[in-house]
Amino acid sequence: MKTKILLKESEMPTHWYNVVADMPNPPTPPLGPDGQPVGPDALAAIFPEEIIKQEVSSDRWIKIPEEVREVLRLWRPSPLFRAHRLEKMLNTPAKIFYKNESVSPAGSHKPNTAVAQAYYNKQAGIKKLTTETGAGQWGCSLALAGQMFGLEVEVFMVKVSYGQKPYRRTMMRTWGANVHASPTNLTESGRSILAKDPNSEGSLGVAISEAVEIAANRPDTNYALGSVLNHVLLHQTIIGEEAKKQMSMVGEYPDMVFAPCGGGSNFGGIAFPFFADKAAGKQVELIAVEPTSCPTLTKGTYAYDFGDAIGLTPLMKMYTLGHDFMPPGIHAGGLRYHGDSALISQLYNEGLLGAVAVPQTETFESGVLFAKSEGIVPAPESTHAIAAVIREAKRCAETGEAKTLLFNLSGHGHFDMTSYDRFFAGELEDYEYPDEAIKESLKHLPQVG
Ligand SMILES: *Cc1c(COP(=O)(O)O)cnc(C)c1O
Repeated sequence: MKTKILLKESEMPTHWYNVVADMPNPPTPPLGPDGQPVGPDALAAIFPEEIIKQEVSSDRWIKIPEEVREVLRLWRPSPLFRAHRLEKMLNTPAKIFYKNESVSPAGSHKPNTAVAQAYYNKQAGIKKLTTETGAGQWGCSLALAGQMFGLEVEVFMVKVSYGQKPYRRTMMRTWGANVHASPTNLTESGRSILAKDPNSEGSLGVAISEAVEIAANRPDTNYALGSVLNHVLLHQTIIGEEAKKQMSMVGEYPDMVFAPCGGGSNFGGIAFPFFADKAAGKQVELIAVEPTSCPTLTKGTYAYDFGDAIGLTPLMKMYTLGHDFMPPGIHAGGLRYHGDSALISQLYNEGLLGAVAVPQTETFESGVLFAKSEGIVPAPESTHAIAAVIREAKRCAETGEAKTLLFNLSGHGHFDMTSYDRFFAGELEDYEYPDEAIKESLKHLPQVG
């Protein structure tokens, strides 16, 4: 009974897998404010050429540069586990496997793309990267990656999180990043918000605007995004490629693959390499798990919408709750995004991917059960996948089916102990699908496409 399934360093994938090559229809293009497709040139002010090429590529395999693989080897290949103890606790005939992405220095899957993005920017002669961060996972990942390649990193951290997550802030500084509480006086966007409300607590939308403004105005500075875009999902496919090899080492193949889904990067990362088999006729269900309070795929509309809250980005066709939808302040900060990856949205719309939504208290109950059985304290985002897997494993216990389930443990929860505290104190609420708020926000969808 093998519990921990390891790949050798030499078995780490050499190429990323591009799902576009196996999609039944070409991806929908991003649109400008005039409703016309945005060409790659429009992105050149904030992204390096190699990243833009990847964003629009339809090549099935894209080589991982050796310099990137060398940094990834600090923690990759990541281990795959068979959750024997959890299976026993649930008394289920299902086999449960999980890929452990919490072993990266930042504690999540996000460095997989941060390292690649920092490398391509360094190659292009860029000196500094700007970005936004909410809870701090992405800011930490980019700070780490920038440090590895000698790039300055400037992070706009939403002011309310800046106060609430002091250790994430300090971690970014430890890796050499310059961290500001957003809104700041350093940008037009920040100053305009502060002029209206000097005590503004900030938002992810405002922080994005600040980071993009600096990158767009300085030739030596670019912007980096931690989810949603095609190149980000591409860089995460190393997760699923490794998992496939590890499953086959123990003679297994999943019936169902689960991952938490915010902007879709870790879900795409584990699911897309299995999608390649599905496109070739194999039976496998790929399921994105989201919060009932921010149910983008399960309750949103498939339409063109802005990627940010203010309306500065190109329009992307995606499942959306409306760009000015403000999800309730749930503790899985990484899952509070109004939209989703365009690739995932398109495949979901075509019935090729599945999605479920789970309420907050069930996710924490599941996270605690996982910690007690498997030992790892999961990130609040990751507990969503665990909750969906536990539901399926319990169903198997009732029907006697011995399904093989795989999920992505996207990160650990060591910086989220305040959230666990509130769960233990009985203070966490379940927010149901906020019907009225979503309806109101969907009224503001841009009228194009
Ligand atoms: C950011 C984050 C997520 C959600 O982002 P995706 O792009 O949907 O993967 C999930 N889990 C963890 C631990 C995160 O940090």
